[in-house]
Amino acid sequence: MLKRLLAGCLSVFFVAAAAAQEYPTRTINIVVPFAPGGPTDTVTRLVGQAMGKSLGQTMIVENVAGAGGTIGVEKVARAKPDGYTLLLMHIGISTAPSLYRSLPFDPVKDLEPVGLVTNVPMTVIGNKDFAPKDMKELIAYVKANKDKVTYANAGVGAASHLCGMLFMTAIQTDLTTVPYKGTGPAMTDLIGGQVDFMCDQTTNTTPQIKGGKVKGMAVTTKTHVKSLNELPTVEESGLKGFEVAVWHGMWAPAGTPKPVIDKLSAALKTALKDPAVVSKFAELGTEPVAESRATPEAARAHLKAEIEKWAPIIKKAGVYAD
Ligand code: ASP
Repeated sequence: MLKRLLAGCLSVFFVAAAAAQEYPTRTINIVVPFAPGGPTDTVTRLVGQAMGKSLGQTMIVENVAGAGGTIGVEKVARAKPDGYTLLLMHIGISTAPSLYRSLPFDPVKDLEPVGLVTNVPMTVIGNKDFAPKDMKELIAYVKANKDKVTYANAGVGAASHLCGMLFMTAIQTDLTTVPYKGTGPAMTDLIGGQVDFMCDQTTNTTPQIKGGKVKGMAVTTKTHVKSLNELPTVEESGLKGFEVAVWHGMWAPAGTPKPVIDKLSAALKTALKDPAVVSKFAELGTEPVAESRATPEAARAHLKAEIEKWAPIIKKAGVYAD
């Protein structure tokens, strides 16, 4: 009896090991927890296409939007750990544990990191008819008109939510927020004039700023962004110490075999050196992380540090969701 059980266990083990060796033998899904056409979608499509080349399989983006990205993350946390369902998520994976009173997953325990991907600056942008013409005017204007100004974001847990929360804390003014399933659709409404302003990643805002469809007001990094060099920083515009950038990482469900994770991490490293990825990233105001950061170890350590970094800041802001 015991012998048969042992033999059974061993054969399951060998089948799993062989599958990991052969991986990947079919299309891989990458879940983007926001709507199509937004910044996370853009980064994922670029990286996924390049990774697919070295893995010899197609990587398909699946947009699972809602609740500031937490619905998509939960889907991957509960997916089969076979390497065919992955997640591309950003800083929001580290703020959600503090923002949500009952989060249905633990990003550290329920996910297996593949590696970090990129760090994207944000920009404060307004619709073309929005009264303030620059960041300094915007600060004064929203303080004076707080009951009528609207701020678009992609829900509690999104980077646009985090940036807005930091901004409102910095100017000690609460504004009306309008949540979307991603800043792709939020951008459409901003261009259409249905909302006044938002803070979103350069990977989404650069073409719209350069094309004159929205008013670029400031960047949220400490230094200027090369591709949008005319924009001042938020700090230069008067909010001392204001800084936020949006790191991204790739994850698989916890329990994904190590050989699979290693193959994915190697493909991620190759993708981040792909000239098409590097030049498109530069055009959109960002760059790939250093090779040593596109690893499970770096992503694991970064996630833990970021959860610790944001917890007291969110607690102080007093923002919670159920
Ligand atoms: N990254 C989100 C998106 O792709 C938006 C956000 O986090 O603010 O729509």
